[in-house]
Amino acid sequence: MVKTTGGNEIELFNPYTGGILVVGVVHGDEPQGDYLIRKYYKETPDTKLIMIPCLNPDGMQKNSRTNSNGVDLNRNFPSQNWIEAEKNEYYGGKEPASEIETRFLMNVVEKYTPKAILTLHSPYKVVNYDGGKYEGKYGGNDARMLAQKISEIIGYPVEENIGYPTPGSFGTWAGIEKGIPVITLELDEEINIVELERPVFDIFRMLENY
Ligand SMILES: [Zn+2]
Repeated sequence: MVKTTGGNEIELFNPYTGGILVVGVVHGDEPQGDYLIRKYYKETPDTKLIMIPCLNPDGMQKNSRTNSNGVDLNRNFPSQNWIEAEKNEYYGGKEPASEIETRFLMNVVEKYTPKAILTLHSPYKVVNYDGGKYEGKYGGNDARMLAQKISEIIGYPVEENIGYPTPGSFGTWAGIEKGIPVITLELDEEINIVELERPVFDIFRMLENY
């Protein structure tokens, strides 16, 4: 069991090799993933998805983007473009992979080698993708194809690039550098969370059969 600096457990549901991994709450002030993953897992205990409902429980407790050490976990992955940034809400840590939460997710990816990864964020209402291989299962780039399928379900546009640099991001490390299709789904934070259940659970069901 892995505990954070704040003494919270990071939970991992249903780990096995080669499945699709779904990750919630990389940023503590984006709590939608925790609710949606837990509810889906409760309703679908025999799911084929590997799930981390909340990567950043310390941040979620405080409603802060960063973890207990003031680090933006999505800037702390050891990608080639990691930089020591200013100590603001995008601070990437004193060195790459300095944080327990970052190393936890790296270990899950390296141990279980997921064939694709979905991370749940908010509030931009876009489907962003990184990495993937050309000539994937459905032709073309498999990360983009998967992003397209998710876009069709939830109605947000697909965007390859979110429009600003993200050194040390999970998508750069796992997607671009490891070649795993990584989808970053930016959910709407203005509507009632209950209204996100239908499209997000439909996405989870699509991924079950991907
Ligand atoms: Zn986020």
